[in-house]
Amino acid sequence: MKQAARDARAKGRLLGLVPTMGALHEGHLSLVREAQKQCSPVVVSIFVNPSQFGPSEDFKKYPRTFDADIAALEKLRVDYVFAPPPEEIYPPGFRTSVVVEGLGDVLEGRVRPGHFRGVTTVVAKLFEIAQPRFAFFGRKDAQQARIIRQMAADLNLDAEIVVCPIVREADGLAMSSRNAYLKGSEQQGATALYRSLDAMQREVAKGERDAGRLIAAMRAVLGAEPGVTPDYVEIVDADTFEPVVSLRKSCYALIAARVGATRLIDNALIEQDGDFFRVTV
Ligand code: AMP
Repeated sequence: MKQAARDARAKGRLLGLVPTMGALHEGHLSLVREAQKQCSPVVVSIFVNPSQFGPSEDFKKYPRTFDADIAALEKLRVDYVFAPPPEEIYPPGFRTSVVVEGLGDVLEGRVRPGHFRGVTTVVAKLFEIAQPRFAFFGRKDAQQARIIRQMAADLNLDAEIVVCPIVREADGLAMSSRNAYLKGSEQQGATALYRSLDAMQREVAKGERDAGRLIAAMRAVLGAEPGVTPDYVEIVDADTFEPVVSLRKSCYALIAARVGATRLIDNALIEQDGDFFRVTV
């Protein structure tokens, strides 16, 4: 992979990297298509990164669909798939990590201690191996994208971070490899995350600007759905990820919730546009 990356660079080509944990769905493939618009060659990495899973999390049972992933990427004519075995990324004696201070301690980082340290460390390694000029991430993981952008800036990395829209099912559910865990009626219950963001969007359209009342509107939808337990529902500044009191220039409404035994996240981007606020789910 390093040699292919060096060759691409020597020829003045723009290598695009799409890091994934496999179990590919349309969300991942949308990142690949965006990468192909802007870059050549395009590298998709498939690596279920053990260091970003907590000890009681789902690393062992995380869906692995390698053959189907390769077929989907071949169909898109992706140039390279980089799928290293874990011991190549973390050989015995491995002891270095990359930590973005502060941003990784709140929200997902609070509920999943060590998660972002695992993410930034592996992404830094993938960047060093594939040497991308552009790297593509989904807004589905908004906090992750923000942290990686910070890491790239702080460490003078060459990779420009491109954040792509959330791809959803027809019923609004944000696509996720973990949706495969949802059983029976949980599928319908899981749409409560999207529906609560949608309810928030309608409140914003009616003129509501108060974060507390918008959060209450989201919680009301989640609370009405049996089997859905929120981890957090917050509206934060898109830059600092600190809670806001009322809507401002650019913020995220972020939800994490358990649906049965499955933990899902979703979010909406809220941007000021003159006197209006535009909500993108
Ligand atoms: P993962 O395989 O879950 O680590 O995700 C790999 C990349 O795909 C990350 O940048 C995610 O944010 C992105 N991604 C996952 N689901 C979606 C989605 N529904 N829409 C857009 N991007 C997504």
